[in-house]
Amino acid sequence: VVSSAQDFDFFYFVQQWPGSYCDTKRSCCYPVTGKPDPIFTIHGLWPNYNDGSYPSNCDRQNDFDAREIEDLEKTMQKYWPTLACPSSDGLKFWGHEWDKHGTCAESQLDQHSYFLSALNLYKKANILKALQDAGIEPDDRYYSVESIKQAIKRGVGFTPGLECNKDESGNQQISEVYLCVDTSGQEFIECPTFPRISCRKEVQFPSF
Ligand code: 5GP
Ligand code: 5GP
Ligand code: 5GP
Repeated sequence: VVSSAQDFDFFYFVQQWPGSYCDTKRSCCYPVTGKPDPIFTIHGLWPNYNDGSYPSNCDRQNDFDAREIEDLEKTMQKYWPTLACPSSDGLKFWGHEWDKHGTCAESQLDQHSYFLSALNLYKKANILKALQDAGIEPDDRYYSVESIKQAIKRGVGFTPGLECNKDESGNQQISEVYLCVDTSGQEFIECPTFPRISCRKEVQFPSF
């Protein structure tokens, strides 16, 4: 593999909790394919540097082409649904992710491999099951961030980073889970660096 100025140190593989995207002041819109399942879904696979910074929009000549992922579309609608308004089929979200993040890993993964890698990683990291195995359910109750991290570490094998946001009433809730992946896009690794923590000690896990 030829390296280039666009090279990066690792990926963040980021999953979102739909309940926490939708119960905000901004609300959400279900995709045209209907309400997503109550599972963590993919947000993105993001090249990152060890110092916490990251490249973006690395190749305007390599824009998203929906034809290259026709075989993955059904699976992506299920595990990578879009919740932004207005309702759409996901192509805009996936195109945004490829253009902004995927093109920065084009020395490692072409467009089809990029989306396929994300889907394969998703299958290997069942966040909801890891939490449920530890008695942590999306039931609107509060859980300690420490117990959430430990449950994911136990179930998935690696320590996650967590992001939180606020629901309409201002309650802190878990919104995103970050795992780290090697530059091949195939194997989870321990994170070289974590995103800035936006969670308090106790956070809500809203139902969806
Ligand atoms: P937010 O401000 O909502 O946390 O992030 C907005 C966008 O910035 C994300 O959707 C993602 O594209 C990018 N982003 C935020 N934090 C990181 C990060 O730590 N690494 C990378 N690679 N991208 C990030
Ligand atoms: P980021 O720049 O953070 O990687 O991606 C966020 C962008 O994708 C925003 O422009 C947002 O409007 C769009 N988007 C579309 N659907 C979704 C979704 O379901 N979740 C998130 N986080 N962003 C979405
Ligand atoms: P972007 O400009 O990247 O679309 O969105 C900026 C921020 O607003 C991101 O954190 C994105 O997830 C959020 N966002 C964009 N559209 C929506 C929406 O329809 N509902 C919610 N809850 N958040 C959104």
